[in-house]
Amino acid sequence: MSISVNPLKFAANALEPFISEKTIGFHYGKHLQNYVNTANTLIKDTPLDSLSLIELVKKAEGAVFNNAAQAYNHQFYFDGLSPQKVEIPAALAEKINSDFGSFENFRNEFITKATGNFGSGWTWLVVDAKSGKLAVKNTSNAGNPITEGDRILLTIDVWEHAYYLDYQNLRKGYVEKFFDYVDWNFVNSNLNS
Ligand code: MN
Repeated sequence: MSISVNPLKFAANALEPFISEKTIGFHYGKHLQNYVNTANTLIKDTPLDSLSLIELVKKAEGAVFNNAAQAYNHQFYFDGLSPQKVEIPAALAEKINSDFGSFENFRNEFITKATGNFGSGWTWLVVDAKSGKLAVKNTSNAGNPITEGDRILLTIDVWEHAYYLDYQNLRKGYVEKFFDYVDWNFVNSNLNS
C-alpha cells in the first residue's frame, strides 16, 4: 500500500490574493508531492508499507515520520482552507469563547504564536489531551500534536515555502489573512469527530 493525499478542493488560483496560484502550484504540486513520493520510496517493501498515513504519523520515526507527517500536515492544512467566507458554527464559537474568553483572544494568540514559531514548523488549534480545552500549539519541522494525544482542529503552515513568494519575510501578514480563508466547518467537524 502506498500513501496518497486528496486533490485540492479548490482551484489553484481560488485563494488569491491571500495565496497566489504560483505558491499553490509549488506548494501543493511540488513540496507536498515530494513528501508523498519520498515517504512511499522509504516504506516500500518494509513492514511500514501496511500502515495508513495517520498510522505512519503516530508510529514511524526518523525520515519516514518526517515525510509522512509532512504529507499529513499539508493535507490537513489545505483541507482547512476555503475560498468562500465560512461562518463559524455556533458550537465552535461557544467553545472558543469558553476556552479563550473571546474569539479575538484566540485570534491574537494564534497570530502571535504562528508569527513567533521559530524556523520551520506548524501552528495548531487543538483540544489539549490533558485539559480537554482548546489550545494553540506550535510544532517544529514535521511535528504534529497528535503524537502527544491532542485532537487537531486546524493548522497553518509557517515554513517559508508557504508564504515567501507572496509575503517575503512578512510572515505576520500571511498569518493575519489566513483567518479570512479558514473553513470553520472543517474545524467544527474535527471538534465533533
Ligand atoms: Mn508546506
